[in-house]
Amino acid sequence: MRRPLIAGNWKMHKCRGEARTAIRRLDELAGRSNGPEILVFPPFTALDAVREAAAGTAVQWGAQNLHWEDSGAYTGEVSSEMLLDCGCSHVLIGHSERRQLFRETDDEINRKLRKALISGLTPVFCVGEGLEERESQRVEEVVCGQMERGLAGLTGPEISRIIIAYEPVWAIGTGKTATPETAQESHALIRAWLSQRCTGAQADGIRILYGGSVKASNIAGLMIQSDIDGTLVGGASLDPESFASIVRYDASSGASV
Ligand code: PEP
Repeated sequence: MRRPLIAGNWKMHKCRGEARTAIRRLDELAGRSNGPEILVFPPFTALDAVREAAAGTAVQWGAQNLHWEDSGAYTGEVSSEMLLDCGCSHVLIGHSERRQLFRETDDEINRKLRKALISGLTPVFCVGEGLEERESQRVEEVVCGQMERGLAGLTGPEISRIIIAYEPVWAIGTGKTATPETAQESHALIRAWLSQRCTGAQADGIRILYGGSVKASNIAGLMIQSDIDGTLVGGASLDPESFASIVRYDASSGASV
């Protein structure tokens, strides 16, 4: 049984004070339920403030990126040791904004994933196709290609420690969510790919999150799909009230509470 996980990617938003306030409010609204695991990805500068506010709550935190080297002359970069020093348990790797805006390559993503695993951080590895690729029926080729190159050389047990986030690029920040059925099709493709690289039990235990304009009104429909184990939320994670209503979705009623 895979425990659902709702993760919020704050991107380049929130200074330390706002971050502390958001975590405290999120904890009040959703932190004490027996629902899904809750995880936030604040910017680097707010990690320590989040650690302070989230200590003793159910909210976990991670970073939005890392460098694969331990230390050295890499201006502007942050190492896994630095993230662990800020209490991070997770790290986001290969987000489409990093791939597109910062030209991050599959090879770099692969190095980052390896570094995260060696360091004991749980990577949340993002894959997903663009609109043109979807319209030209290339979803499987693109998504499985990203999986193949990003996870190159990793063993089944290593892959089983990774969380996958399927995020169709055309649905990120656009208000266009994939329908639950469309998202499920891609998640099933990813699970099938995983089952070729891992044992059945490992592939079955890996969580696959959906990301792309998730909000309180569409979470429940997504979460009832058999291969959707949680969500990665961008815009709607910034406001603790809206993020909490996503965390508190009620799959049985098909609505958020
Ligand atoms: C994201 O950036 O990972 C994301 C899913 O953003 P949004 O929810 O705003 O589409």
